[in-house]
Amino acid sequence: MKQLSILGSTGSIGVSTLEIVAAYPDRFRVAALTAGKNLELFARQIRQFSPRIAAVASPEDVPQLKELCSGLNVEIVGGLQGLIAAATADESDMVVAAIVGAAGLAPTAAAVRAGKDIALANKETLVTAGHLFMEMVATHGVKLFPVDSEHSAVFQSIEGHRSQDISKIILTASGGPFRNTPAAQLAHVTVRDALNHPNWSMGRKITIDSATMMNKGLEVLEARWLFDAPVDKIEVNIHPQSIIHSMVEYVDGCVIAQLGTPDMKAPIAYALSYPERIATGVKPLDLTDFSGLTFFKPDMEKFRCLALAYRAIRDGESMPAVMNAANEIAVEAFLNGTIGFLQIAEVIERTMDAHPAHDLKSIDEVLQADRWGRDTARNICGGLKN
Ligand code: NAD
Ligand code: MG
Repeated sequence: MKQLSILGSTGSIGVSTLEIVAAYPDRFRVAALTAGKNLELFARQIRQFSPRIAAVASPEDVPQLKELCSGLNVEIVGGLQGLIAAATADESDMVVAAIVGAAGLAPTAAAVRAGKDIALANKETLVTAGHLFMEMVATHGVKLFPVDSEHSAVFQSIEGHRSQDISKIILTASGGPFRNTPAAQLAHVTVRDALNHPNWSMGRKITIDSATMMNKGLEVLEARWLFDAPVDKIEVNIHPQSIIHSMVEYVDGCVIAQLGTPDMKAPIAYALSYPERIATGVKPLDLTDFSGLTFFKPDMEKFRCLALAYRAIRDGESMPAVMNAANEIAVEAFLNGTIGFLQIAEVIERTMDAHPAHDLKSIDEVLQADRWGRDTARNICGGLKN
């Protein structure tokens, strides 16, 4: 029986994870759950999965959650200390890190320090604190399994191979809803247009990141740390059908790819049950359903966020954390209607321009850089008119 702490259980990844847990009561048990908002759904999950401990992000929400869970045998806690208590629950073997944004970093890092294996969906952990986090994973001897579909595909495509034989990692990207939209029209796209992802159903922040292609930039950073790969060996291919989830090219010219119907339950289940494979209910792939799988290079001028992510990787040190923070603020401002779609990249670029990158020696220093990026981006957003 594997005991799980699921951080961000009310989100898109969290809900899919719980669907798998519900299908395998003899294999998985929920030790702890955490959520941000959506207390009604959270209370229903607590009722169904009986965690010993449940943490809500804001301490002010604790009384209401206690009321919703009255009569249940669960310890309800709140705030960062509460999230950390859930992430480090004694009985849990594995932590599913599925909080969105840099808010996931501190609880995920605490889980590593407590010796928990990690199923990592929260890519922002590696984007902001990659080298420190990977060092911690090594020091504490924990296993780290990617949940992001591209990274799960790479993980599956490198098994049994020597890292020195890899010549390239090719991350695929759907290209999002604006793949075919002329650049000149991007200034006028609405929140609704941007939330309409062609292939994947995900949380709002990552869906906007997919529309700007910042998501792929974050994923290049994620791959750089997960697979210890230099950035010039990581390439992005647009693949609108999202059937090949990523590929690895070897020095002999062979390419190994992982394919499947786009459904996050497959990579989540692999991270939970590795090295075994379990049935997920994901629709089997029939390639004869497709008239063709296509691939092309991304347009870095149209999708400036992707170019900015490559710039942040080259600058290194604190720049990716600052870029990530600015992106979170800009995406929130776009979703609230206070800035336009193209201003997301503008806010990020101006924040990066104002930041002299410096070395980060601890998670606390990462969080300081994150706060600096947020404050600066907020000021820049305030001066913009949609
Ligand atoms: P989501 O917005 O649907 O869910 C996020 C979860 O985190 C919710 O439970 C929410 O309540 C919680 N949360 C939000 N802010 C919080 C805070 N400040 N403190 C504590 N908890 C907070 O997001 P998602 O789409 O499930 O994505 C989660 C993570 O997984 C992201 O890092 C995303 O990039 C990554 N990811 C998601 C998908 C996908 O298909 N959704 C695919 C690959 C990677
Ligand atoms: Mg992905």
